[in-house]
Amino acid sequence: MNQTYPYIVQPLNYAYDGLEPHIDARTMYYHHDKHYAGYVGKLNSLLKEHKQLQRMTLNELLADPEQIPEEIRTDVLNNGGGVFNHLLYFDGMAPESYGSPLLREKLIEQFGSMENWRCEMSKAAMEQFGSGWAALVLNEQGELVIVKLSNQETVLPEGLVPIFLLDVWEHAYYLKHQNRRQDYIDSWFYVINWEEGEKRYLEGIAMS
Ligand code: MN
Repeated sequence: MNQTYPYIVQPLNYAYDGLEPHIDARTMYYHHDKHYAGYVGKLNSLLKEHKQLQRMTLNELLADPEQIPEEIRTDVLNNGGGVFNHLLYFDGMAPESYGSPLLREKLIEQFGSMENWRCEMSKAAMEQFGSGWAALVLNEQGELVIVKLSNQETVLPEGLVPIFLLDVWEHAYYLKHQNRRQDYIDSWFYVINWEEGEKRYLEGIAMS
């Protein structure tokens, strides 16, 4: 992502209730306005005294952690990762999306069928122990693979291109589903933004 300091809270591309009945408005409100906005605010305050880090894009900042001074490194990675991952997650969902035949074709090629892909993605999301993410990514060989991320870890240091991120922190589902993570995961498949996924895929292929 090309944003630089000071980071702003990007609005959702749809209404809080736009993903109902799959993902409820109250969850979306707290998730966007409180959790994600919290990461933005903390990232800005961490970078306040670090001019050289302010000039870097969010991607540059997160891709190479060694360049972040040690005393703020963990906090910058946690909060910067929170900003990066949530932007991918929110824009990766849409109220109505039917497009992207190419991405679907690639998923079938890679996973055997759409059902198998959903099954693998769902399994990764269930198996992620504690807070984190399941992610569909494009690797350097141009293959679509699924990875698990802990807390606010990102795919950038591994050189992977994110296609879809599925947030499995409890704050993503607890208000509606309580402990039933599987119900939330099943709901997420109904609100995937296929056009956005295909755009990310094509950009990733073009870069490799
Ligand atoms: Mn979240």
